[in-house]
Amino acid sequence: MRTQSLFSLLAASVAMAAVNEPCIGSGGRAGVCVSSATCSSSGGVSISGACPADGADIKCCTKASCAAYSSGNCRWQSDCAGSSASGYCPGPSQMKCCSSTATGFGGYSAPSFPAVGSCKQVSVTGAQKVVAAFPGRVRQIYCIRDCAAGATSDHCVGKAIDFMCSDAGGVPTMSGREIAEWVMNNRSGLNVKYIIWGQKIWNPSVDGVKAWTSWRTMEDRGDVTQNHWDHVHVSFN
Ligand SMILES: [Zn+2]
Repeated sequence: MRTQSLFSLLAASVAMAAVNEPCIGSGGRAGVCVSSATCSSSGGVSISGACPADGADIKCCTKASCAAYSSGNCRWQSDCAGSSASGYCPGPSQMKCCSSTATGFGGYSAPSFPAVGSCKQVSVTGAQKVVAAFPGRVRQIYCIRDCAAGATSDHCVGKAIDFMCSDAGGVPTMSGREIAEWVMNNRSGLNVKYIIWGQKIWNPSVDGVKAWTSWRTMEDRGDVTQNHWDHVHVSFN
């Protein structure tokens, strides 16, 4: 029993850390959650409190200039408006030295929408409104998704949409914050039940309107997709 409880404790503490996933760091820059040692060894700057579901030594690391380009900065490759170079930035391989200081969100062809049927009208209408508000920023739309027997997700009753907003599934982006906050600000017209972006949740029945950074932090579900760093989830009433 003792071994088992020790194991549970260890598993719980390991599960807290979403290492190598995005955060907003010093100066509002795109960052990555890594140990402060990893950050300083790659020339980055760490700030505390921006990887809030993580262990004490896991902090948000940013690097405002990187040597590959004269105006280069470290950001997620999916968000780079120019060329990206490897080997200059902290974190996983998708955090690269970008040649442009401009934000390079989106640039995608218009996604196709689900038919109204299994996917309910409120979801399809919501999807259309969000895509219209953010041209080129939503690459793909999912309504009915991951519905194994016994699944209780709003997706399975056609009342949730995933707005995929990075270059591919599993690829992190900072793009979804603006979309998520827009959905919050337009909650009534969209009939929003709750929103998830970047491992944080907002529910109009319990949360006041506030910046995404102040939304409630969720548990670490284990990867970029499950922690909603490649898509905004919106559940509708
Ligand atoms: Zn979803």
